Amino acid sequence: MARVYNFSAGPSMLPESVLNRAAAEMLDYQGSGQSVMEMSHRSKVYESIVYGAFDLFREVLNVPDNYKIIFCQGGASTQFAAIPLNFMNGSGKADYALSGQFSTKAYKEALKYGDVKVAASSKEQNFSCIPKVTAADVRPDADYFYICENNTIYGTKWHTLPETGSVPLFSDVSSCFLSEPMDVSKYGLIYGGAQKNVAPAGLTVVIVREDLLGNARETTPAMLNYKTLADADSLYNTPPCWSIYICKLVLEWIKNLGGLEAMKIHNQKKAAILYDFLDGSKMFHNPVKHEDRSMMNVTFVTESDELNAKFVADAAAAGFVNLKGHRSVGGMRASIYNAMPIEGVEKLVDFMTAFEKNN
Ligand SMILES: *Cc1c(COP(=O)(O)O)cnc(C)c1O
Repeated sequence: MARVYNFSAGPSMLPESVLNRAAAEMLDYQGSGQSVMEMSHRSKVYESIVYGAFDLFREVLNVPDNYKIIFCQGGASTQFAAIPLNFMNGSGKADYALSGQFSTKAYKEALKYGDVKVAASSKEQNFSCIPKVTAADVRPDADYFYICENNTIYGTKWHTLPETGSVPLFSDVSSCFLSEPMDVSKYGLIYGGAQKNVAPAGLTVVIVREDLLGNARETTPAMLNYKTLADADSLYNTPPCWSIYICKLVLEWIKNLGGLEAMKIHNQKKAAILYDFLDGSKMFHNPVKHEDRSMMNVTFVTESDELNAKFVADAAAAGFVNLKGHRSVGGMRASIYNAMPIEGVEKLVDFMTAFEKNN
């Protein structure tokens, strides 16, 4: 069986060794006589998986002791509402930087709950860059300041975090989670849907500074109350058991490769191969401001929609799938998350070189 190179933005590739391990353990997980899919989440054997995943997450991402790690459901989009419900309860104000579609959705959701301000936006530039934030853009009494750190659709990233003073910085890291080391202590909260770089869909990981918990508004549904989930070690109800198991295997894979420092080097190499090609190409062009380029999602266009469509179709026929850009922006996008091997990017560039010559 031939596996394709899958450049999907999410759900996306998982490491082949993780898939093989899951396949080998499918019918009988470590002598339990059951699949992980079939286990009680209250069983001893499952507890070793979920607590093992917490421990590995803390170790691999170097999460400080005063932060809680929460495994929840509902995708990143559910957190757009959970965040204001849990945290916009001091001054009732929150500031949002808009760098793309997901931060805009989060902002619109927050508008339902309080006094929300657009602190900065790159909408005028079609989100082709990261907006500049100065100290004057941050309301000092805001309950939090919100960014989307890697903009999956546009291929941009905040390489420098905004200075928010004493206002806690909240960040959606869905599409850059575990791609490189992060200083978690700079944030009040980070969160991400797992299906981009961490695990299959169904799991959302929230990491939050402990002292911020406990101020959710009365009407917050129990399932959206981070304190309820944190106090129950994310076993308040049935968690996304299978995704947490794969998350644990992915974390073991990262650790064995040398951790997030090694992961970063691997990801930098891949991104450099692709961007170097794009910068030298006469046919393909990366529409994003140079200094804001994402290491995970690389967007590119040709001069015409017809040629873009031909490229996507020819590439798919050659085994490079899901290269079509997001429906809202068109063009192409190669998502090159952790599990994409270097040779996948090298072969894509070979294919693009040949396509450029022949068209
Ligand atoms: C994919 C994505 C989302 C939405 O995730 P869901 O889990 O589908 O709700 C939000 N933010 C970012 C940055 C994403 O890449």
